[in-house]
Amino acid sequence: MKPLNVAVLGCGVVGSQVVRLLTEQSADLAARVGAPVQLVGVGVRRIEAPREVEVPHGLLTTDAASLVARDEVDVVVEVVGGIEPARSLILAALESGASVVTANKALLAEDGPTLFEAAEKAGRDLYFEAAVAGAIPILRPLRESLAGDRVTRVLGIVNGTTNYILDKMNSTGAGFEEALEEAQDLGYAEADPTADVEGFDAAAKAAILASLAFHSRVTAADVHREGITDVTAADIASAAQMGSVVKLLGIADLVDAGGAEGVSVRVHPAMIPRSHPLASVRGAFNAVFVESDAAGQLMFYGPGAGGSPTASAILGDVVTVARNRLSGTRGAGESAYADRVVLPMGETRTRYHIAVDVEDRAGVLAEIATAFAEEEVSIQTLRQEGRGEDAQLLVVSHEATDAQLSRTVDRLRGLACVREVSSVMRVEGMAD
Ligand code: NAP
Repeated sequence: MKPLNVAVLGCGVVGSQVVRLLTEQSADLAARVGAPVQLVGVGVRRIEAPREVEVPHGLLTTDAASLVARDEVDVVVEVVGGIEPARSLILAALESGASVVTANKALLAEDGPTLFEAAEKAGRDLYFEAAVAGAIPILRPLRESLAGDRVTRVLGIVNGTTNYILDKMNSTGAGFEEALEEAQDLGYAEADPTADVEGFDAAAKAAILASLAFHSRVTAADVHREGITDVTAADIASAAQMGSVVKLLGIADLVDAGGAEGVSVRVHPAMIPRSHPLASVRGAFNAVFVESDAAGQLMFYGPGAGGSPTASAILGDVVTVARNRLSGTRGAGESAYADRVVLPMGETRTRYHIAVDVEDRAGVLAEIATAFAEEEVSIQTLRQEGRGEDAQLLVVSHEATDAQLSRTVDRLRGLACVREVSSVMRVEGMAD
């Protein structure tokens, strides 16, 4: 039977494992697809670079453009990363009739619509399960399994590096710098950790999740992003006092936008109660929590990165697109039919936990409560910890717009009775 020819672009952390699985599992893959799956080329930057895998002789090439343009290539796996030349290579592959599998979240979040339109025009598949949460099947469930439901919320721990760092801070009381250093020593964080700790990586994934969950075009530029570099040991201690932990969450919500349905997409650290399923996601693991009208609450959990786990998701996509090619069909393309507006962060409704160091005297409670009332923010709980010099008020608000809440914090900072606002953090997953 005519084989299905696969070209892999990139042979680094992920690409090497894709090449390994394609080679080691070729008999099973052939049986599952219904035709032999044959590796016909591997595009790299440097032929001589050391590799985690032995690439069959003659398959390595530095001319990725010629590789994707070859007529006999059925499937192109793009694991080069970054915007260019990845985008041009994917577009050229689709144009020359290949189906594409990619793990490139940065590109999908920046310019997904260009790729989706090219796939549509070419009548070819573009699959990208590995782009969000590594091995965890989450995009196909959103695209297919939940296609008959109405998803209202996606809440995810989608960056293993930051989860590792925050987990360390939550469990040992370590500060951010100390936890980051340990993550770097153990290989969980890059030498330049900016993309992870500043939330860029999570924001790209949140954009992809929101687009699929809400059938709308959401790009990384639409995502409100805050990283974890400002999370302090005091924030972690405040969370612990409330029976909560701090996590970096990617959050996509279906919201009311002036009578119509809109979307709110954000990435920021938040306190979640220890009883919430996401609180138990430890170390570098990822999890995505989905809420929908009919199914209720679902959680998807597993390794969110790493060569083999990511290659597992890629191979799943390769099998699917290969089967589609054999049967002369293609999977459903991206649907942005709902075209929902993305709400600015200021209009998004959130809840805050605020720790305020105050003077310990009569009337302080009333002054604090007035600052909230003047911004029409209602208080769910207010509790005093410590006495005298150590007096601290811990406030959890009800939902209000993020703009109201941040104005309330500004008011608190201006009060004479307030020595310091020592911790401000959003709260998620807590019952009203
Ligand atoms: P990586 O280890 O840096 O590998 C990149 C590969 O691309 C290298 O083999 C490199 O060649 C090749 N390359 C770079 N520029 C090229 C060019 N201009 N033409 C041809 N080949 C080129 O990256 P990675 O960690 O495998 O990540 C690849 C993709 O997977 C990224 O989109 C990333 O976001 C995504 N992803 C990664 C993970 C993970 O755990 N690493 C998880 C999920 C998704 P040389 O080897 O010759 O330098």
